[in-house]
Amino acid sequence: MLAAMTSRASLTARDADVLIVGAGPAGLTLACALSDLGLSVLLVEQQRLCALEAPAEDGRDIALTHRARRVMEELGLWQHLPADQIAPLREARVLDGDSPTVLRFAATRDDASALGWLVPNHLIRHAAWTAAIARHGVRWECGARVSALDVGTERARVTLADGRCLSAAFVVAADSRFSQTRRLAGIGASMQDFGRSVIVGRVAHERDNAGIAWECFRYGNTLALLPLNNDQSSAVVTVASNQASHWMALPDDEFAARIEAQSDRRLGAMRAVGARHHYPLVGVYAHRFVAPRFALIGDAAVGMHPVTAHGWNFGLYGVEVLARELKAAMAAGRDIGALPALRAFEREHRRTTLPVYLGTNAVVSLFCDERALPKLARRAVLTLAEKIPPFSGLIKAAITRQLVGESRR
Ligand SMILES: Cc1cc2nc3c(=O)[nH]c(=O)nc-3n(C[C@H](O)[C@H](O)[C@H](O)COP(=O)(O)OP(=O)(O)OC[C@H]3O[C@@H](n4cnc5c(N)ncnc54)[C@H](O)[C@@H]3O)c2cc1C
Repeated sequence: MLAAMTSRASLTARDADVLIVGAGPAGLTLACALSDLGLSVLLVEQQRLCALEAPAEDGRDIALTHRARRVMEELGLWQHLPADQIAPLREARVLDGDSPTVLRFAATRDDASALGWLVPNHLIRHAAWTAAIARHGVRWECGARVSALDVGTERARVTLADGRCLSAAFVVAADSRFSQTRRLAGIGASMQDFGRSVIVGRVAHERDNAGIAWECFRYGNTLALLPLNNDQSSAVVTVASNQASHWMALPDDEFAARIEAQSDRRLGAMRAVGARHHYPLVGVYAHRFVAPRFALIGDAAVGMHPVTAHGWNFGLYGVEVLARELKAAMAAGRDIGALPALRAFEREHRRTTLPVYLGTNAVVSLFCDERALPKLARRAVLTLAEKIPPFSGLIKAAITRQLVGESRR
């Protein structure tokens, strides 16, 4: 608390203990967590406040783990989600090519009726905004872009594009996987451009989806069907990026017919619902998550390929760990911008995210490769994981643990 009080004593109207660049879900959630520690937070966001207040629907339905839900509940975000928009994910099934083998993952823990939950991204953004705006310790600088970052021994200074200068004990970049602030801090990132894009669109179907998610690694493209309420699913089609505009331009009935055919009509006749959206796929992993008086959070730290549904979950885990380490630093009377607390966050977040990031990229590379040998390997991996003990038990338990997000606190 000492560090917070010391820095607050010299605050001007534009200063704060912590300055967060980016009011996406990660920046907003971190603002809530740090404000609850008694820190003053300034959020700098390029969008206008009205866009944050009413985020546009963006086609993403986000799969949340048990740990992610707990973090959202503790910070008061979950309570702002409309109950009828939270869809349970009871089971995940994976298909490869034309193989009849189905790899299944279901909740196994006694207390878990679901592997996780699906919630539209714009509702998560709205819930995070509602929770942050209610906190008196959070202030806003919207319609603003950062043009320079200068980290001194006592304070970090941020210059905005309009020339104004803001200062804080500590700056956090939460400004997306292509973070400009990360670059201004001199931190590089490994990027993997998959040369592919996802097209997302909702479909309504005849049959109950029973809370089952399907991941169909077909030849030519990949289809994921994510179960939503009211006999709807989110169709996520991964295609070579040069095919994306073609898929976006399809008439609704043609899009629905393709999804229906690729899912072997398991859910009966389909009809497209609402707009389609498209996202190029680039995985990003920052070389470092921290520097003196500086940290990365959310996609700015780890930008995942969506196939394993971990990006936002990792964002929440990062918020939880960073807030915990800053709380410990404050309790010990240490400077919140100094490296020891930040390094503890970095170590834990790297340990949690790096194996999954690398594993996801390896799975994506293998299951998008349609040469003869990789096709054989794909089939072998699925058969091993579904049918051959003890591998099947071990692989399934490890993947289910990731899906559920079993936490270490
Ligand atoms: C199709 C798809 C499906 C997904 N499915 C899942 C899933 O099932 N499960 C899961 O966990 N994750 C999923 N994700 C990932 C998840 O959506 C992201 O991890 C999450 O939205 C990232 O939040 P963020 O706040 O870090 O970044 P963003 O949402 O990118 O927000 C960044 C914010 O920073 C602002 N900003 C950017 N630059 C600047 C600047 N220079 N100055 C000021 N402000 C700036 C932006 O305006 C924005 O408000 C999916 C992603 C996609 C694309």
